Amino acid sequence: MTKPLYGAIEAGGTKFVCGVGSGPEAVIERTTIETTTPRATLAGTVAFFREAVERHGELAALGIASFGPIDCRPSSSSYGRITSTPKEGWRETDFVGIMREALSIPIGFDTDVNAAALAEWRWGCARGRSNCLYVTVGTGIGGGFVVNGETLKGLLHPEMGHVRVTREQGDEFGGNCPFHGSACLEGMAAGPAIEKRWGAAAHTLPPAHQAWAWEAGYLAQAIVNWVVTLSPEAIVLGGGVMQQGHLFGPIRSRVRLLLNDYIQAPEILEESASYIQAPGLGTQSGLLGALALAMDARK
Ligand code: ADP
Ligand code: ZN
Repeated sequence: MTKPLYGAIEAGGTKFVCGVGSGPEAVIERTTIETTTPRATLAGTVAFFREAVERHGELAALGIASFGPIDCRPSSSSYGRITSTPKEGWRETDFVGIMREALSIPIGFDTDVNAAALAEWRWGCARGRSNCLYVTVGTGIGGGFVVNGETLKGLLHPEMGHVRVTREQGDEFGGNCPFHGSACLEGMAAGPAIEKRWGAAAHTLPPAHQAWAWEAGYLAQAIVNWVVTLSPEAIVLGGGVMQQGHLFGPIRSRVRLLLNDYIQAPEILEESASYIQAPGLGTQSGLLGALALAMDARK
């Protein structure tokens, strides 16, 4: 018997990455669709999967790893929707309803970062750990968490990018979060915050620039909060800003410094390179996370 095929959508604010495959090393089709209006983008997405079905046969399930905020609480009357997003036109889009209507298959629905955490835990650098924290530092900052093989959901889903931080010494930037100004991580440390603070594209700032010392400082402050709250066994940092690989060293040392020997784990005390690290799946964590959601939705 051939392995079942799954559909996967990594739904981002700029683009949707869609794929079809039977496992992490067997993604046989993939496409990118620009995120414009829900109508156009979802029509393109449905067309891609319908064509894939014609070529390869039925899909067993679909996984959606979505930008948010989303309603992924199964008991909720608005389950499956993108909710209060600032993304133009996408508020209250019934993402799961539209895909279910079009494809009639089981659907797994979660945040992009919860899905990425799941993929890193199942197939990436957090394999074998009891849990995994995944954080993306890009246009926004978001965190996902997997424990006992399940992503963390509850009242809503984690919104770790909005954890509170205090100013790094000398930083007078007013912050970029419309809700929390300079008081939250995303407002101080996401890509657009760096670019607004310095008036330059983040990728053009050299490694010795003050921007990166502060960036490492804010991320370390947040990581300390996540460490004492979630007790993660692996912390994976992805997203555009983390392309600055030189950030990892300063982040690890600052985390150890801030924890001040309180957490007696060798991963922290030795500033282990396999504790706070880059995604093992590279840029594929999101799409493969969606694939993992599909596999779990079929069970
Ligand atoms: P998104 O969050 O929209 O999915 P990314 O994770 O690529 O996309 O994040 C985009 C942000 O990351 C931009 O704000 C940009 O400033 C920043 N960024 C992208 N590439 C780099 C880089 N090489 N170095 C530093 N910052 C980067
Ligand atoms: Zn905020």
